[in-house]
Amino acid sequence: MHATDTIAAIATAPGTGAISMIRMSGPQAAAILAACGGPAHPRPRHAGFTRLRDAQGRVIDETVCIYYAAPGGFTGEDLVEICCHGGMLVTRRVLERLLECGARPAEPGEFTRRAFENGKLDLTQAEAVMDVISAGSDLALRAAQSQLQGAIGSRVAQAADKLIGIAAHVEAYIDFPEEDISPDTGESLVRGLDEISAALRELLATADEGRLLREGVRTAIIGAPNVGKSSLLNMLLGYERAIVSPTAGTTRDTIEESVSLGGFRLRLTDTAGLHESDDAIERAGMERSRRAGAEADLVLEVQDATLPRRPGLPVQPGARRLLLLNKCDLPEHADWQGVPALRISCATGAGRQELEQAVAALFLHDTGERDTPAAINTRHRHALQQAVDALAAARASLLAGDSPELTDVELREALDALGAITGRIDTEDILTRVFSTFCLGK
Ligand code: GDP
Repeated sequence: MHATDTIAAIATAPGTGAISMIRMSGPQAAAILAACGGPAHPRPRHAGFTRLRDAQGRVIDETVCIYYAAPGGFTGEDLVEICCHGGMLVTRRVLERLLECGARPAEPGEFTRRAFENGKLDLTQAEAVMDVISAGSDLALRAAQSQLQGAIGSRVAQAADKLIGIAAHVEAYIDFPEEDISPDTGESLVRGLDEISAALRELLATADEGRLLREGVRTAIIGAPNVGKSSLLNMLLGYERAIVSPTAGTTRDTIEESVSLGGFRLRLTDTAGLHESDDAIERAGMERSRRAGAEADLVLEVQDATLPRRPGLPVQPGARRLLLLNKCDLPEHADWQGVPALRISCATGAGRQELEQAVAALFLHDTGERDTPAAINTRHRHALQQAVDALAAARASLLAGDSPELTDVELREALDALGAITGRIDTEDILTRVFSTFCLGK
């Protein structure tokens, strides 16, 4: 696919900074740059000092321009990156000048879309571009980078490749109906389908960690009034976000904040003290905190080390829980002797490191501490599930000895689902495979 128009947009965030970058991609990119005062024949992949000029020849800005000749740049087209001074007005003027000279404003995501359409990225890699930008923790960033390198796309492509081989077999029988699928062949096709299903299920199993990495770990801080829940939130955030007071019931509402801890982004909810109250507002706050606890991936249960042990609060079965014994700077109540808990002090900051290690230990086994974690997103999960279901139906149809046409419908459905993940798999590949790799000799 080759676009005929040339697009331009400001690539850096709006606001004032030292430098802004404007990107322009398409067949006229070099000509438009030349029309604004750039060199007539820019040297590819070289940073060149360029005075960009308006229609009257006045300098808009002194810039550094880099030209990538097609298909070498990010989009696979002629691409120009213009670094100008980082003021809002000057940046806008540079863009306006490019538009005056024939570029059109790019739509959101259009550079990456062109990269996809020109075969520079598959869809999973295009999605990873946004994941890299929005990564909120080290692990999320590593997972996004590995997806950008093709970790997910290549696993799906491998599965699809095997599946095309099987579909080619089945379609060969459709084209030559006098041949039945022999029991031997049928068995090896079923084995092949099972291998593909297993590989897809392995990817599907990363859906949860994908959500934890992309969206953060929903974390609820729960405990009785005055045990130090707000103080814990403040200690983790490193500043006074929640109001801390010695009067019970000060935190009436839930507060949400994000903090990076143990490689993960925790989405922390400080909750109203869970105790009975007649105060309507406070009751509403407590109801929200119960809900936050019920929906959480991680529950941090805070107890006061100086007081007798209180019964633990009910927690959602799937959630992980850490018991934090706060105020360990003060003498500990006898109830707590020998009780395994993380002893912390929000007053002195003691125990923060241990808490960080405990969180990492709780969630790292999901991500397997692999160097290159590959974790799918919701769209991938949906398509993978469709593929796995269609493969199960194809398997059943093969075992039942259905006509090859019926099996083929399921196989194609599975292939379509896999194709939707990478945006790359054309089911017409099957025909090519039938005729290129089969010596039918008939
Ligand atoms: P919450 O009601 O559970 O949110 O509790 P707060 O965070 O408002 O804390 C209640 C009281 O305990 C405040 O007076 C805090 O200063 C005090 N407090 C919190 N953490 C500690 C701690 O680690 N050590 C001591 N000595 N006091 C603490």
